[in-house]
Amino acid sequence: MQTSLIVQTSFLGDIVLTTPLIAELAKRGPVDVLTTQLGATVLANNPAIRSVIKYDKRDTYGAAMQTWRTLKGIRQSPPYSAVYMAQGSFRSALIALLTGSHERVGFFTSHGKALYTRRVEYRAERHHAERLWWLSMTDCADPPLPQQLRVRLYPSDADREKVDGVLRRAGIAAGDFIALAPGSAWGTKRWPYFADLAERIGVDNRIVVVGGKSDSEAATEIARRVSSAPVLDVCGQLEILASAEIIGRARAIVTNDSAPQHLASAMGTPTLTMYGPTVPDFGFGPLAPQRATAGVSDLACRPCHRHGPARCPLGHWKCMRNLSVDEAQRLLTPLLVAPAAA
Ligand code: SF4
Repeated sequence: MQTSLIVQTSFLGDIVLTTPLIAELAKRGPVDVLTTQLGATVLANNPAIRSVIKYDKRDTYGAAMQTWRTLKGIRQSPPYSAVYMAQGSFRSALIALLTGSHERVGFFTSHGKALYTRRVEYRAERHHAERLWWLSMTDCADPPLPQQLRVRLYPSDADREKVDGVLRRAGIAAGDFIALAPGSAWGTKRWPYFADLAERIGVDNRIVVVGGKSDSEAATEIARRVSSAPVLDVCGQLEILASAEIIGRARAIVTNDSAPQHLASAMGTPTLTMYGPTVPDFGFGPLAPQRATAGVSDLACRPCHRHGPARCPLGHWKCMRNLSVDEAQRLLTPLLVAPAAA
């Protein structure tokens, strides 16, 4: 029986996209995941994980001591059969080395590759969920089946009850609203017309705005523009898995290339992602069965940045300014039609 450790200390989206790798390795034996506090929250209740080991990435003395204590705890058990680096920094590779495992697997493009014992091709043309899944395979393996790449999250009963209450108090039934997620950590990735879209689709649909505390201003503007029924703003009010749960109950979600898109993928919610300075070809697009992406196609500067710059380096921000509400509505409409039963 194989014992595996996965090191994944990246962004929320990367953590969600690691769940197919976790599920694959769990077929071989126990899987532990070393991840951040955020990652531990995202991966809570995942039945494929034996234990989540929390890791503090800050460069402080306290964090370094905590890391050392964590490693000491790991080394008191027999070494893992293999450690998989879903995050490629040299520090992660060093942690893998210090666990005492003789097999350390990561991408050959990673900063920590000198410390790996097996380097795996980084398949730039594939979705990142698939790239990570390939860490568990040799080059001659068959490609994954679609169900092997299904990303999953596991909201708890408490998360479901919380969402029940929030929707009940707002007088909104499950499956009877459209979720809008206007936020992103990167300014240029925030599509500027969410309120305009809400004004149109809010005539026939209840609207729920999801996101963090910092998205409250956008949520307020959306609420101001929808007059037919009150908009429910849950920005900053729900933990990650409760956010996933409420997104899972939406008819569809319109989101930027940001965390809610990945929550929607895990919950199977029809997804329209608005792309600006980034593109789906980077490998982080939506994975829900019904999905669409919007982006300006005739812009030479696009894509301009792996994550999206804080400000448009050219000043005009046409990648988002030219992405119209008409286009969003055209792509969203088919997602609102329930697929025919098989
Ligand atoms: S340079 Fe182009 S792709 Fe980048 S933010 Fe500006 S308009 Fe968008």
